Amino acid sequence: MRCTSHPDQFERRHNGPRDHEEKDMLTTVGASSMQQLIEETIPSSIRNRPPLKVGEAMTETDATLKLFNMVSKNKLKKSYIGMGYYNTITPPPILRNIIQNPGWYTPYTPYQAEISQGRMESLVNYQTMIADITAMDIGQASLLDEATAAAEAMAMCQTICKSKRKKMFISDLCNPQTIAVCQTRAEPMDIEVIVGKVEDAKMDSSLMGVLLPYPATDGTIHDYSSVIKQANDNKVTVVMVSDLLALTMLKPPGEIGADIVVGNTQRFGVPLGYGGPHAAFLTCKDAHKRAVPGRIIGLSRDAAGNPAYRLALQAREQHIRREKANSNICTAQALLANTASFYAVYHGPEGLKKIAARVNGLAKTLALGLKQSGVKVCDLPFFDTVKIEGVDAQAVCKKAVDAGMNFRQLDKQSVTISLDETTNPSDVDAILAVFGANKSSAEKLSEQVTPGFDGALTRQSKFMTAEVFNKYQTETELMRYMFHLQSKDLGLNTSMIPLGSCTMKLNSASEMVPVTWPEINSIHPFVPVDQVQGYHEFLDELNKWLMDITGFDAISQQPNAGAAGEYAGLMAIRQYHKHHGNTNRNICLIPRAAHGTNPATAAMCGMDVVPIECDDMGNTDMNDLKEKIELHKANLGALMITYPSTHGVFEDTVVEICKMVHDAGGLVYMDGANMNAQVGFCSPGHIGADVCHLNLHKTFCIPHGGGGPGMGPIGVNKKLAPFLPNHPMGVTGGEHGIGAISAAPWGSASILPISWMYIQMMGSRGLERATELAILNANYMKDRLKNEFEILFTGKNGRVAHEFIIDLRPFKASCGIDAVDIAKRLCDYSLHAPTMSWPVAGTLMVEPTESESKFEIDRFCDAMLAIREEIREVEQGKADPENNVLKNAPHTMAEVLGDKWDHPYSRDKAAYPVPALRERKFWPSIKRIDDVYGDKNLVLRLAKTDQAKAAN
Ligand SMILES: *Cc1c(COP(=O)(O)O)cnc(C)c1O
Repeated sequence: MRCTSHPDQFERRHNGPRDHEEKDMLTTVGASSMQQLIEETIPSSIRNRPPLKVGEAMTETDATLKLFNMVSKNKLKKSYIGMGYYNTITPPPILRNIIQNPGWYTPYTPYQAEISQGRMESLVNYQTMIADITAMDIGQASLLDEATAAAEAMAMCQTICKSKRKKMFISDLCNPQTIAVCQTRAEPMDIEVIVGKVEDAKMDSSLMGVLLPYPATDGTIHDYSSVIKQANDNKVTVVMVSDLLALTMLKPPGEIGADIVVGNTQRFGVPLGYGGPHAAFLTCKDAHKRAVPGRIIGLSRDAAGNPAYRLALQAREQHIRREKANSNICTAQALLANTASFYAVYHGPEGLKKIAARVNGLAKTLALGLKQSGVKVCDLPFFDTVKIEGVDAQAVCKKAVDAGMNFRQLDKQSVTISLDETTNPSDVDAILAVFGANKSSAEKLSEQVTPGFDGALTRQSKFMTAEVFNKYQTETELMRYMFHLQSKDLGLNTSMIPLGSCTMKLNSASEMVPVTWPEINSIHPFVPVDQVQGYHEFLDELNKWLMDITGFDAISQQPNAGAAGEYAGLMAIRQYHKHHGNTNRNICLIPRAAHGTNPATAAMCGMDVVPIECDDMGNTDMNDLKEKIELHKANLGALMITYPSTHGVFEDTVVEICKMVHDAGGLVYMDGANMNAQVGFCSPGHIGADVCHLNLHKTFCIPHGGGGPGMGPIGVNKKLAPFLPNHPMGVTGGEHGIGAISAAPWGSASILPISWMYIQMMGSRGLERATELAILNANYMKDRLKNEFEILFTGKNGRVAHEFIIDLRPFKASCGIDAVDIAKRLCDYSLHAPTMSWPVAGTLMVEPTESESKFEIDRFCDAMLAIREEIREVEQGKADPENNVLKNAPHTMAEVLGDKWDHPYSRDKAAYPVPALRERKFWPSIKRIDDVYGDKNLVLRLAKTDQAKAAN
């Protein structure tokens, strides 16, 4: 017996179909072998890549050990670096029940409101929390990080002044990464950024906006009343970058004249993670609500008139407005927003105030101890950050490192020390010792300080008065509340989520476990690089694998989502043209079927979008492409193309398309969000693209978190490598880099172990198998459904790639049944609808992924076939054209059990259309959402109520 390799290979856990089922499925699709299926699916012209070099698969245990050994090389020191990132205590019930819970981390963005009420309720808590604490009218449901949130706010300033003003003033006391990201963003948007001292700034009518840090990067708190008055008088939009914990004590921006407030919610229980993921916040005055970027959850009602949440103001977004969208943000940071939201629910306003007072008290204690020993401390007001002046900053920081701490070196003679929720008096003693200032102990010193601010800086107003923030301070109640919300949401722990273009595959436990190791998640993003050798060892290996998989020469891990990757990649193309003296090359060709983020991103990069038509087969119309290339030859900057196409087909012509664009002097951006049908068989680099982004939260197993986090690294060839994003706080990027595009140099580094584990545990062959099975599963489903439904677009041999589109428009014509009726009826079958009406209206796009078993995809096909019979009943007049199971879907438990039942079909037919549902049934928590009502009566936060009684 051979017993050298372990019998339990991860590939068999990740991939759905068993070997014997694979044979049956191949028979169903009419292929004699997997090889034949692949040859008939992926054009031979692009199957030109060498075999993957990832190597042998490792078992779950061995891969975990390998990763652990690597990251054990990280040196864990206490960081007091601040700059928007603080140590925090994740309350264990939140760690266990939210962050580590597939019920919360596996759902998708809440497009299907009826099965997403739980996380939307929590996100409305979040919106209320951030709006309350900043004292602004409304908040949105998370941005990627503080720096990009500030850049988004700058874009809002441009919208608000209707682009009539060209200058943005940014205080030089903002965090350096925030200034850097705004500068990168401003340039293609034709905004002139002025970085300077607020005292010297003139708030005249040439400015669109001003960005004011409150508190500042060096911890100081300034009185901005005169500058804000001047700004308000001259219609200069006032944006403040702030800190939620500080604002529980400090007069909030809304009470001193801010129009927009941004910041990070990281210190509300979200681990540092060497840069992320965290949720940034943005709040603003009601007047600016239509200019807000990203997702907003709003209250509406369902078909029964009951209150219900849904994504609000979708009409602002790139899916609809494309290059005119407010922003390109798609995936945001929902899971982390929910973490911060629950932190606020857990502590309540009183708890937050106590935490803030303690942090402030300890900071004051530290300052006092230093002063008493003759160390010079800046005497401006501060919240948590003590600024020490007149020292040999480098020597002090080195001494701190030797004592196990990281301080921030501000300049040659000053350092800052930022305290946080985790700081104890003994930590203050240790800090004092670095300065030889420990004559008396922190315990003693603290008796002489009183937390708080002088007069005008003190917050008087209440916040978070809504009941939810004052009710769940016991763990028992909190646990039940979290479970109650979770049980309203359909995640991968309930059923497959066959969302085309979204690749909802397994997020395995082995992949997820390392994310919450302290070696991964407790590290500040700006620690000296010699403390993170382990991090960079696995990052380098991951990058090497991704280069192999994409066929590219360099990777940037800075982009925090797919759309951020598009931005980084297109900016690199733009910089390439500029570098070669071709600033005129600003035309971006984008097929009409492209994801909405593509045109929105091109617009952010200052490019002019020229759409390319699709032919009847769903392919890029070669004649139109030729014409447009010819027309724009002199100014052609880039073509953005999705491959396989958004229609789920491998286009034969892609190599020729790349060549045509190159011949005309343009570069090719490949949207590689969906690499799932390519990995191991073809690659953007070998096809001829110059850059692509990867959605690690699609193909490479990072969970969707109910709407984020994600990671969208880009791969580039040698031409573009010099232009990769760099960063003021880390050595990364190319020699002619585009600047920073995220707050942290390596984006949301702490979720990269997920993708590392996936690749390591699959090995070269396992990754190929995943691609084969993703293609088999899609073709199997297509063939099971094709006799009853029209399948839009197939390749030359009648094959689809990893997804396919079902055309439902014929039913609209035959009996008035819409795509949305079918999508909602699938909820009654305990299934998540496929992607609806994109990229073609009136269709569903199905992507099973390799992780779904034959059992589950058969369950989906059976449901679709049963629904086809239900449609037939309407077509044949056996069912009422309006009062039928489809139009009334989904059916809730309250409705089915209620006394009132005025439908011509039975309750049984409504709730249990197939027998298997009697054993396993997921109940939608609301009836069909009323979108129109919600947008007409916009409610984006919980009502302010002063009646709420504090639980204690
Ligand atoms: C998902 C997706 C994107 C956007 O990625 P985000 O991470 O949501 O920003 C872009 N293009 C395609 C084809 C996608 O499927």
